[in-house]
Amino acid sequence: MKPLRRKRSGEVAHDHVTDHEQILAMRKEDDTISDQGSVDSVDLNYRYFPVCGCAGDIGGRCHECRSLVCVSCFGQCEKCKVPLCTEHSRFLENEDQKKTRLCRRCYDEVMRKRRLSKVGRFMLSIFVEVDGND
Ligand SMILES: [Zn+2]
Ligand SMILES: [Zn+2]
Ligand SMILES: [Zn+2]
Repeated sequence: MKPLRRKRSGEVAHDHVTDHEQILAMRKEDDTISDQGSVDSVDLNYRYFPVCGCAGDIGGRCHECRSLVCVSCFGQCEKCKVPLCTEHSRFLENEDQKKTRLCRRCYDEVMRKRRLSKVGRFMLSIFVEVDGND
């Protein structure tokens, strides 16, 4: 069998944050000439499955673990906009019951600020009490 034509086409996701590219799907078409003179073609479609195990389309690649996740698991940090998988997303509960998806760094920062403001209020209440006893 002699090769007549080889064709490769694919779908690539581009990560704007890290500038990395990931192949999402690949198509291989090989046409060959058989000994009998016929043109035989093989057409293969490769699909790369998301790591999260879902059957859906790929949404993107996590900035932390570099793995591909499906559209429903994929999200972005609402503060710094890095792409994240569910495993590497931290969900911050808001007062209105809505959840904010944040990356580890932004989550830690928010939590630290929250803790500091609590300590601040506590200190203030001590001073107010001491003041009142005088
Ligand atoms: Zn991840
Ligand atoms: Zn998923
Ligand atoms: Zn972030």
